[in-house]
Amino acid sequence: MTTTENPPEVSALEVRNPADHTLVGIVPDMDPDAVAAMAERLRGAQPAWAAMTPAARAKYLLRWLDWIVDNQDRILGLVHREAGKSWGDAQIELLVCMEVINYYAKHGEEFLADETRRPHGPASLTKNLRIRYQPYQLVGIITPWNYPLGMPMMDIPGALMAGAAVLSKPSEETPLAWAEVVRGWNEEIGAPPVLGCASGRGGTGAAVVDAVDMVQFTGSTATGRRIGMRCAERLIPVSLELGGKDAMIVLSDAPLQRAIRGAIWGGLFNAGQSCIAVERIYVEAPIYDEFVTGLVDQVNTLRQGHDQQGSFTAEFGAMATENQMEIVERHVADAVTKGARVLTGGRRAEHGLFYPPTILVDVDHTMLCMREETFGPLLPIMKVRDEDEAVRLANDSPYGLASSVWTSSPQRAERVGTRIEAGGVNINNAMINVFQFPLPMGGWKQSGLGHRFGGPNGVRKFCRQQAFVSEKVHLETETHWYPYSRRKARVTAAVLRLVEMNDWRRRLGLRAR
Ligand code: NAD
Repeated sequence: MTTTENPPEVSALEVRNPADHTLVGIVPDMDPDAVAAMAERLRGAQPAWAAMTPAARAKYLLRWLDWIVDNQDRILGLVHREAGKSWGDAQIELLVCMEVINYYAKHGEEFLADETRRPHGPASLTKNLRIRYQPYQLVGIITPWNYPLGMPMMDIPGALMAGAAVLSKPSEETPLAWAEVVRGWNEEIGAPPVLGCASGRGGTGAAVVDAVDMVQFTGSTATGRRIGMRCAERLIPVSLELGGKDAMIVLSDAPLQRAIRGAIWGGLFNAGQSCIAVERIYVEAPIYDEFVTGLVDQVNTLRQGHDQQGSFTAEFGAMATENQMEIVERHVADAVTKGARVLTGGRRAEHGLFYPPTILVDVDHTMLCMREETFGPLLPIMKVRDEDEAVRLANDSPYGLASSVWTSSPQRAERVGTRIEAGGVNINNAMINVFQFPLPMGGWKQSGLGHRFGGPNGVRKFCRQQAFVSEKVHLETETHWYPYSRRKARVTAAVLRLVEMNDWRRRLGLRAR
């Protein structure tokens, strides 16, 4: 039992910089009771938030963005240190805040407006039909560590714009920048208290799933499956953005320099820790040697490190966790044992969680690096005979998040792109589909369930759809209402045949029944 003299001890999570192990900050490790209490407070504030116009909600989102930009050095400094990123890689997180908030602030009202539909069939001609979008009261948004600010920002502006309250759960590895941004919402811009941050480990995430009306999860396939099962038990909707093993197909007529630079950006940005990172490369035989040589030359010029804030002297930084480092090491060791050759990198740095950019050749689909998500700075490359072999291998995966095809021919791009089993296809670019908010972003196969973004869907997914039917004219009764009679049935059947049948004999009742 606790007394006021001895308040309950709140357990805490230490967050350390993976580049040098220094302490960056401490957050509470919230237990299920604390999560439930936060959920109740958010629910209490939500009705007033939902009652505002979308334009009024948009004003708070834009005020929030102003505050984030005004405080960017402090906030990005937290991202930089808690994830061990390079300063350059950390910048993209601010871009996500700007782009996503502006997109929903601009389009929210239009996306949430009632939709009218034309009635179908003679029985419905006297009806006005509308779809109305009513927010879930409380949405849970659970995110991973790879983009501490960018990941929650992909979904939360849409949910807030919808009129929902949001209980967010950042990763235990990188909760600091997000906790600060939520503090900004609640304490600095005068916004209604409809955004909460539940910091903690997996158990805190499970408590979030138990406390909300809808879950948006981004993270590993294993955790996503567990959350999906719990949501099925609770009969609440869930949207899952999970892992990937994205294929890059380089055809013989590819713009070579662009493909090489695209492979580097797509495979190594954020030390390869992106769900839509290039994870495996298939190059058509005629340009394979040139591609590999060019890639090795350019990879050798990259600078890796945890550069000073503001210095931009490293391209990419550390692995975020020891666990992630071990996966990368396991994939390289497995490939080498099975006959792969290491052309660059191949061994972790002595200090800090740094793994150098590593090009592997002579790889095949018996190797982990071609089958399982690596989530690290590996570029395994396979030579393929032709388009067919490239497509077959690209599709030989349990994952289907995104992909890319590199060619100068629009016809080849179309032919190959449409055969790829993935939720996104980029032609002559890498990872860029995630920034096209009018398009849906989601995984096929084990890479997910549902989509984020996709124009109106990015807001409407946080709403329940309500079918709103009203009468254009007020008759005393309807033909199908009681009482039944032979005469009414005969007339109704004749009218129905006339309107619903597709040939004249049946319409006129000339065909024997
Ligand atoms: P993870 O699945 O281990 O953790 C993600 C979040 O889930 C964390 O906040 C964690 O605390 C929480 N969690 C853990 N167990 C839980 C449970 N039982 N119930 C509720 N919440 C729980 O993922 P990670 O290691 O942090 O992130 C890496 C993974 O995320 C990779 O697989 C990557 O591909 C994926 N990812 C996918 C996308 C996408 O959009 N598809 C984007 C980024 C990352």
